Order: sequence, then structure tokens, then C-alpha cells
Amino acid sequence: MISKYQQVAVIGAGTMGNGIAHLFAMGGYDVNLIDISEAALEKALATIDKNLGRMVSKEKITEADKTATLGRISTFSSLAEGLKGRNIVVEAATENIELKKKIFQQMDEFSPADAVLASNTSSISITKLGAVTQRPAQVIGMHFFNPVPVMKLVEVINGYDTDKGISADIMALSKDLGKVPTEVNDFPGFVSNRVLMPMINEAIYTLYEGVATAEAIDTVMKLGMAHPMGPLRLADFIGLDVCLAIMEVLYHGFGNPKYAPCPLLRQMVDAGHLGDKSGKGFFVYT
Ligand code: NAD
Repeated sequence: MISKYQQVAVIGAGTMGNGIAHLFAMGGYDVNLIDISEAALEKALATIDKNLGRMVSKEKITEADKTATLGRISTFSSLAEGLKGRNIVVEAATENIELKKKIFQQMDEFSPADAVLASNTSSISITKLGAVTQRPAQVIGMHFFNPVPVMKLVEVINGYDTDKGISADIMALSKDLGKVPTEVNDFPGFVSNRVLMPMINEAIYTLYEGVATAEAIDTVMKLGMAHPMGPLRLADFIGLDVCLAIMEVLYHGFGNPKYAPCPLLRQMVDAGHLGDKSGKGFFVYT
């Protein structure tokens, strides 16, 4: 454990927030998990309990480890309360720039002056989030992947003003959590989504233009390129609304037509066919 960052706050107790809280608590860190929704907090604790229970039954941890890990997580519905005395805050709230700017202003107001403010955003500029605070040198991206306890990567994103020492600290902290961090600079889509999303978008264009069926496109990429999931299956898993929002960030961020979202993607989102979460996307889920 890195003692300098022992007191952690995680904002947002959804899919990513509960995984991030689980990870830090397993690593011995004390976690305040904060959400505006009491229901989300309850659900997050139940999910963490279930996931730790699975680790106990696989004999990866003991029942005592599970109890100790749960004992390190406290929940809060007030940011002012939950941020008191925290050394690092990882924001994992809903992906919306205006919401995140507001949350970063509050993180700046309620966290100790030397605290690091991190965001798990998939696509929002870390530089823009840093700019709404009085401490842009201490604002950084800590981009985890779903499911957080399993996926090894953390994309550590330096904003325009992020201090090199803070960046080194967050690389070390990620390693301490058992992850493999990579350091990248703040440009639209960072590295992960800048490379992944245009591939998914191209797969959608390939379907749209009638080159092949969804099954055929995914089979080519799985068996020919050794991808564990085809790009269309992956798009359904991520959520087509999320894919569209990230393509818009790339398109507007670079001003380059090569990032234009495929009209079929836009139409499917308009129709409410969002992939796994709506039961239907490029494939049907029951
Ligand atoms: P989610 O919808 O599952 O959870 C978001 C949570 O934020 C909700 O529980 C909501 O109540 C809470 N929230 C909203 N406003 C809040 C506020 N003002 N204060 C406190 N909590 C608030 O979303 P998610 O999938 O966990 O995504 C969270 C972040 O992680 C996003 O920035 C997203 O881009 C990023 N991300 C998601 C994935 C993924 O695969 N889902 C992967 C990497 C990064």
C-alpha cells in the first residue's frame, strides 16, 4: 500500500465505481464510496459482496479477507462529507461533461489542498476538467476497464498542466493495485478509444455498405485477427450510445471527417437499439 494515498474517495457507485472501490479496498486502502443515489450505493455494496464471495469460493481470498475488505468501504451520499480528509479522489460518475465539470469544482472545494483529483472518464478531456479547479497540476486521468478487478490495464492520462511527479505517483499507485499502467497524453480518445472506436465504426460501415453480415464481420476479426470478441459484439457490450458519444468526441476533437460516426450507428441509437443493455443491437440478447 502507498501510505501517501491511503485515504481514497470514489465518486459514482455504478458499474465502474463499485469495481474501483473493490480494487482499492482489496489493496488495503480505506475507501469512501459516494453517490447521489442511495439505491446505487446499496447495489454497489451488494455487487462488491457478491464478487468478493466468488473470490472466496475460488479460494483466491479467505472469508477474513472478504470481511476486512468490506470493512474498509464506507458509503456517503454527500460529497462534502465523503471527501473530507481524502488523499486521492477517483471520479467515476455518469459520462457527461457539464456534470463532471460541476463535480470537479466540488472535488476541488471539499478535498484537502494536496489531494489528487482523478477521473475515470472514457473520453472527456482531462485538461478541461483540470481547468475548472484551482489545482490543474493535481488533476489526472485514471482510466480503468470493465470489469475493474479483472482487467489489468490502467490508462494514466496527463492533462496539459498535470505535474510529472503526480503522474509518477499515479503510475506507482496503479502498480500497487496490481495493474499495468500506461502513461498517455490528453488528446481526444486518449490511446484506447482513439484506436478502438474507429475500428468499431469501420466494422459498422462494413455492415452498412452490405459488404458482409454482422456474424461474418465478427468471425473475420475473431478468427483472422485473434480478437477475443468481434467489433460488433464488443460495440453491443460497450453500448451503442457510448460508442456514438466517443466517435463524436473524436470527430469534433480532431475536426477530421475520418472520424464521422457511421449513419447506421446513429440510427440504431435513435431507435433505442443500444446493445446488451436494451436487449438488441447488432445481435439479439435474451
Ligand atoms: P454508471 O451509469 O454505471 O454509474 C454512474 C454513477 O454515477 C451512477 O450510480 C450515478 O448515480 C452516479 N452519479 C451521477 N451523478 C453523480 C453526482 N453528481 N455525484 C455522485 N454520483 C453521481 O456509469 P459507469 O459505466 O460506471 O461509468 C462511469 C464512468 O466510467 C464514466 O465516465 C465512463 O465513461 C467511465 N468508464 C466506463 C466504462 C464501462 O465499461 N462502463 C469503462 C471505462 C470508463
